[in-house]
Order: sequence, then C-alpha cells, then structure tokens
Amino acid sequence: MSEHKNRARQKALERLKSQREQAKKEDLIGQLLNGDIGALSRAITIVESSLPEHQEKAKEIIDACLTQSGKAKRIGITGVPGVGKSSFLEAFGMYLLKEYQLKIAILAVDPSSKSSGGSILGDKTRMEQLSMEEQVFIRPSPSASSLGGVAKKTREAMLLCEAAGFDIIFVETVGVGQSETTVKNMVDFFLLLMLSGAGDELQGIKRGIMEMADALVVTKADGENKSQAQKAASVYKSALHLLSPSHSGWTAKVGTCSAMEKTGLDKIWSFITDFYNEGKSTFIPKLRKDQNESWFRQAVEALFIEEIERNPSLSNEFSGLLNQVISHKALPHRAAEEFIKFFAKDIKS
Ligand code: GDP
Repeated sequence: MSEHKNRARQKALERLKSQREQAKKEDLIGQLLNGDIGALSRAITIVESSLPEHQEKAKEIIDACLTQSGKAKRIGITGVPGVGKSSFLEAFGMYLLKEYQLKIAILAVDPSSKSSGGSILGDKTRMEQLSMEEQVFIRPSPSASSLGGVAKKTREAMLLCEAAGFDIIFVETVGVGQSETTVKNMVDFFLLLMLSGAGDELQGIKRGIMEMADALVVTKADGENKSQAQKAASVYKSALHLLSPSHSGWTAKVGTCSAMEKTGLDKIWSFITDFYNEGKSTFIPKLRKDQNESWFRQAVEALFIEEIERNPSLSNEFSGLLNQVISHKALPHRAAEEFIKFFAKDIKS
C-alpha cells in the first residue's frame, strides 16, 4: 500500500474511533438523563476521576446535567459513629420508597477515607435491604486525591443524581472534624442524629453542630431505651430554644425514632416536608444561592491546590516557603504574599 493510502486509512480509522467515542459519551449522558443507574454510576466515576483523559468528558457530563438539576431535596445526615445513621437510612429510605415511591440516592462524605480507604459506606451491606432496591442509588465515599476533593466530587455526584431524576439525595457524613460544615454547605436540610446518653445529655455535644441542625433526632428509641430517648429529646428541645434559629422562619425540630421498630419515621418526613413548604419562597432559594456560592469558592480553592500539585515549579516554591514558615524563618502571611506573586508570574510565563 502506498504511503498516501496508508495515511488516509489511518485518518479514517481515527475518525471512526472518535465518532464511536462521541456516540458512547452521548449515549452515557442520554442514559443518565433517562435515569439509568448503571450510567449514573459510570458517569460519577468519570467525574470523580483525576485522570487527565477524563477531565474533558467529566466537564461535558456536568454541563449536560446542570440544566437538569436542582429539583431534588438535598438532605444532610450526620452523627457520631454508632448513632445509627445507616440503620436509619435503611429504614427511612424503605419508608419513603414504599409510602411515597420516591427515588432515593445516598452519597457519603467521609473525612477519614484517605487513611482508612472509606470507612462509612465502604460496604454496601450496611444498607442491605435498600441497596437491593432497583430505584435506589448508594455511592460510597470517593477516595480524595487532593484537599477539598471529597466535597467537590460529592457536589458533582449530587448534581448527576438530580439529573438522573432522583427525588431525594441524602449526603451522609460522620460527625467528626470539618465534614459537617462541608456537608451543611451543600444541602438544604441538615439532620443531626443523637444518642440518648446516660443522664447528662448535653455532655460532649459540639454546640456548633447543634446550631447547624434543622432537626435533631434521638435514635434507638425502642425497648428499655425508649423513655430515656424521650427524656433526651426534651432536654435537647430546651437546649435548642437557647440557640438562635439557623434560617429565618425555621426553628429546629426535635424528635425520636427507632430504625429497628420503624417508628418516628413519618414525623421526620413531616419535618422535612414542612421545611420545604415553609421555605419554598423564602429561605430555600437563599439556601440554593448560598450553596452555589460556597461551591464556587471551594472550586476555586481546589483548582488552586490542584495547580500547585500539578506544576513542579509551583510545588517547589510552595514547599520551600512552607519549610521556611515551619522553621520560623519566614512569617506565614509574608510567605503567602510571596507565593502569590510567584504564582502569578509562573502562570503568565
Ligand atoms: P452508624 O455507624 O451511625 O451508621 O450506626 P449503625 O447504623 O451501624 O448502628 C450502630 C449500631 O446500633 C448497630 O449495632 C445497630 O444494630 C444499632 N442500632 C441502629 N439503629 C437502632 C435502633 O433503632 N434500635 C436499636 N435498638 N439499635 C439500633
């Protein structure tokens, strides 16, 4: 075959390959928008990926989903390990599915995923019954490759779930560290699960977390624990009176529930629906604006950090200045100023 023919053949093959890839991509987006859970899962994997070859695809997926998002209820759930988050989600999810035929997605933000390899939703068996349901999507926490990565990807995963037609997105997090604030900034309604302690109910509770809660629910209100749970709920109720409401017009609600006996679930659902009904033209639109603002701020921060990690001269400069700061050779704010100057120059060149 002549060289000319060879080249033409090569070109035709490349064109065919790119057409196939384009069709596959469009297909994936089309299937996702149609509510196909397998496609949703594959699309989230692409969005979560840090591989350079996935970046373009990820952007296309997000762009296609953006216009179709925003209709779901965004609910954050937090509480210490062992409080009963997954048992609650299993019971509450099944209740919403059976009573209201709602499509439910559960995403996790796990602050410890980097070191433990994903500890909160690492095994699907934690929600055995729910994960068997065809209309339910459960996604374990992504392992974060960079600072702020988990939050960024969770927001995007949420967007994709909304575009796939899910009615409720639960974002679960462990009640430790900064993760509650991260989750609080990406959801509408923030549910705090609590254990009834032995007498001294308010001991060890981070006040800041209580202030963030739109509802506080004492778990495991069954058997011998029932009256103690109710007592704890009334203590929390009076404590909450001392805190100012988190949104104008909404006062945090307090309840009890048992995932084991499936009680209290209807009450929690009424807290959520009341919240949306009361806030639909007041605090909900404001919340959505705030969510977008914090998304933008976090995205800028994450891109900034990614750029530093990706670019050797920037990361060298960063480590050098960091060492000077650590060894008291430079003041942090001076070093930061110097770094920003270097950054601006480096980006231009
Ligand atoms: P998570 O770590 O917050 O997700 O908590 P789990 O859902 O894994 O529950 C921790 C433990 O509490 C498990 O042994 C559950 O069986 C138990 N548990 C969860 N919900 C209830 C409940 O409603 N009643 C009772 N009695 N135990 C529960």
